[in-house]
Amino acid sequence: MSDYKTTLTGLKIWDGIADDYLADVDSITMTAHKLTAIGCTSDGTMSNSRQVDCSGLYAIPGLIDAHIHLVLDPEIKNALEQGLESADELMAKMEKRVGAMAAAGITTARDLGAGQWQELIVRDRIQRAELKGPRLVCSGQPITSPKGHCHFWGGEAETVEECLSVLDRQIEQGVDLIKVMATGGTMTPHSRPVDAQFDQNTMSKIVERSTEYHRHVAAHCHGTTGIHNAAFAGVRTIEHCSFVGENGWGADYDEAAVQKMVENETRVSPTINVGWSRFINNDKGPEKRVMENLTRLRKAGVKLIASTDAGIPNVFHHDLPKALPVFAHFANFTPVEALRSATSDCASAIGLGEITGTLRAGFEADMVLYDKDPLLDLSVLEHPVAVYGRGVLLSG
Ligand SMILES: [Zn+2]
Repeated sequence: MSDYKTTLTGLKIWDGIADDYLADVDSITMTAHKLTAIGCTSDGTMSNSRQVDCSGLYAIPGLIDAHIHLVLDPEIKNALEQGLESADELMAKMEKRVGAMAAAGITTARDLGAGQWQELIVRDRIQRAELKGPRLVCSGQPITSPKGHCHFWGGEAETVEECLSVLDRQIEQGVDLIKVMATGGTMTPHSRPVDAQFDQNTMSKIVERSTEYHRHVAAHCHGTTGIHNAAFAGVRTIEHCSFVGENGWGADYDEAAVQKMVENETRVSPTINVGWSRFINNDKGPEKRVMENLTRLRKAGVKLIASTDAGIPNVFHHDLPKALPVFAHFANFTPVEALRSATSDCASAIGLGEITGTLRAGFEADMVLYDKDPLLDLSVLEHPVAVYGRGVLLSG
């Protein structure tokens, strides 16, 4: 089985990095797991494999969503009403969600928080090819302050020792990274996005302990003080990065924190989902400040990665293709820049840059095919023709 090869021929191939389609190649060969060659049908290197004519189709790496919550039901508005279903019902819902993600062209996603580690079971079933879905990396319970943001997931801690003990518990459960709620959030009653939940020393200790375990830290950060603490602690990704100050959303950009992010190669994951389209050309929303802040981050040299916070109200797990044009608007991305943020740049941000996010021999064969040109028009992403995850046809 493992040396059974398939070659897709007649493709235009974008590798996830270049400014345009690769010149002089039109075929991709893969085994049941890996991409083994990118070449040209006429050069003969593609013999000894089953050929599939893909003339007229465009191939790009599978999409990556850097911030989802597999356990959350986007149709439930009140956070405290989440998680009331039985374990079997939840598992059935999660199976449906990962199936829809794969069908939408999402071949990798990073899960940034839940309470009972059930998403790790889904991760492992997908990994064992028992279930069709995206490759998942999961954080388990986020570390949060007592009654702090998403405290109902069980990761409450006050002192440094308590934080490290929550962290150790996640490692014992087999998580892939650590999530910390560096500020309050909008979903939790009595939690204020502007407030920092941990001081810089605590954040630094969390990053140090995670590094000992060879794990990255993702920090949920709305308020600027929390962003500052997370940046100086050297977290891998800053989620949301809303620069909330006492004067409102996006009003408190922090130059020193951004310089630290550049030094540490911290990436920002702004979680701009399709619902943000309501802010476009709307004077009352945060459009102008968000656009200014993202532009300043990019100019300073901070990479932005695609993420949706899927699972929160009205943000469906398979919506990344619809979110990318909206993200492109706010980040002032060209289509190819938006696509890098959801492929190669995203993979490297979440520690998978040597496995996926790029179409290259030796990488896992995660790719999506379209019958129109996604580099010209991001709306094409909503209609994939075929999706491959680790060399297996997931959809199409
Ligand atoms: Zn989230």
